[in-house]
Amino acid sequence: MLVEGTTVLIELEVAPGEAEAVAEDLVPVIEHVVETVDGAVQGLAHRGEEEIREPLAEEIDAESIREYSVRLVPASHWEPTLGEMSVGIECVVCGKSVDSGGVSIDLGEDSYEVCCFFCVTEIEAQYEQLS
Ligand SMILES: [Zn+2]
Repeated sequence: MLVEGTTVLIELEVAPGEAEAVAEDLVPVIEHVVETVDGAVQGLAHRGEEEIREPLAEEIDAESIREYSVRLVPASHWEPTLGEMSVGIECVVCGKSVDSGGVSIDLGEDSYEVCCFFCVTEIEAQYEQLS
């Protein structure tokens, strides 16, 4: 799906050991926060460049940031694919994260993601009881 509206990419160079704390501080401001192994923090925010600078300056601890940049993103695409980018998808039955063994099942007009065939039978049974 194409995310409409203004999107900015934020890149921060963080003092050693501060990446996790900085990423946590940014969650209220930025929609997708990514922490990389080399201690950098990146994020995507769906708001204008000007609107992001102020909250960014308020939320982050200046001492932990060495440098940061805010760049405008003309368009971003977000297409979670089961098995590759399923991080964050939870089984609707048991709540475990759905990995490459996950199953997508259509019941009526809705589609559900579950983690295993046991949960498939479980959701089918629930669905039949309701209908
Ligand atoms: Zn499950």
